[in-house]
Amino acid sequence: MEFKENHSLKNLNSWKVGGAAEYFCSPTNIQECIDAHEFAKSKKLKITYLGLGSNVLISDQGIKGLVISSRKLKNIESNINEKSNRLEIHCLAGNFKTEALKLFLKHNLSPALMFAGIPGDIGGGVYMNAGISEKILPREFSEVVDYIEVLRDGKLHHFKAEDLEWSYRHCNGWQPGMIVKVGISWSLDNPDLDIKNKVREANRTRMTKQPLDLPSCGSVFVNPVPHHSGKLIQDAGLKGFQIGDAQVSEKHANFIVNLGDASASEIDSVIKHVQKTVFDKFQVQLSTEVRYLGDW
Ligand SMILES: Cc1cc2nc3c(=O)[nH]c(=O)nc-3n(C[C@H](O)[C@H](O)[C@H](O)COP(=O)(O)OP(=O)(O)OC[C@H]3O[C@@H](n4cnc5c(N)ncnc54)[C@H](O)[C@@H]3O)c2cc1C
Repeated sequence: MEFKENHSLKNLNSWKVGGAAEYFCSPTNIQECIDAHEFAKSKKLKITYLGLGSNVLISDQGIKGLVISSRKLKNIESNINEKSNRLEIHCLAGNFKTEALKLFLKHNLSPALMFAGIPGDIGGGVYMNAGISEKILPREFSEVVDYIEVLRDGKLHHFKAEDLEWSYRHCNGWQPGMIVKVGISWSLDNPDLDIKNKVREANRTRMTKQPLDLPSCGSVFVNPVPHHSGKLIQDAGLKGFQIGDAQVSEKHANFIVNLGDASASEIDSVIKHVQKTVFDKFQVQLSTEVRYLGDW
């Protein structure tokens, strides 16, 4: 496996911003993940994990130390557990969510709807406890994951889903380490023969409601229950607010889009302006769903 120096991360995140990784590697299997951790240890480098980069804001100054990307960490297997009558999927963390989507669609199972709605890889989905807003079952990762395997200190640690702390857009109880493998399952008892149409319809709705033609990281702020961030931002008159090429989307106020050549610091400035304006108008503190990586 190659360790690249001063490797640009701009094309490795969905906002298309940010500087370079001091060191960068993309392991293709668990042994290479172990090698990457040993490399970091030998050089005393801090490690940063990167999935598909669809929920991160990478600093313009880049990331010091070693960035381990999971985008080549792929292998997916599935089987039917006759005893429990469940479809079981065992995959490495870098498998795209769309690969799980295909398996659920093949068996007409409802998790297809959730997997269709979220970009990124399976490891990133666990880290974020990613989910969709539709009130359906399942709507977030916590409802489909059986176990995860985490690489820490050169060893694999197995965690059952019920031993983890799942919350809105986060999963705790396994850190520190790198999520390398995930087990997912769903009952075959109640297939939904209309699931393909539902996925098609949900994709169509997303195309009309979200600015999917421009680089973004999806929703920037978590919803401060009982409010909706998008509505607060829109009511504060911030749709279209722009600093440089970073803009609060005209289509969906909780998205900040890169109109072409935005920098990470311009996006951060828009985030801070939105937080201040919403707080001044409604006394509601918006916190970011997006994770900041690198030196800020
Ligand atoms: C257009 C668009 C729409 C979106 N819609 C939704 C939505 O409906 N619902 C939703 O929940 N999210 C949504 N998102 C956000 C994003 O897709 C999810 O949060 C996704 O799960 C992130 O996965 P990723 O692989 O891109 O993770 P990354 O963005 O690469 O990483 C996210 C965090 O996880 C950590 N991480 C990643 N992989 C590992 C690993 N293997 N081990 C340890 N740590 C790791 C990273 O360090 C980082 O802190 C959307 C994003 C976009 C661009």
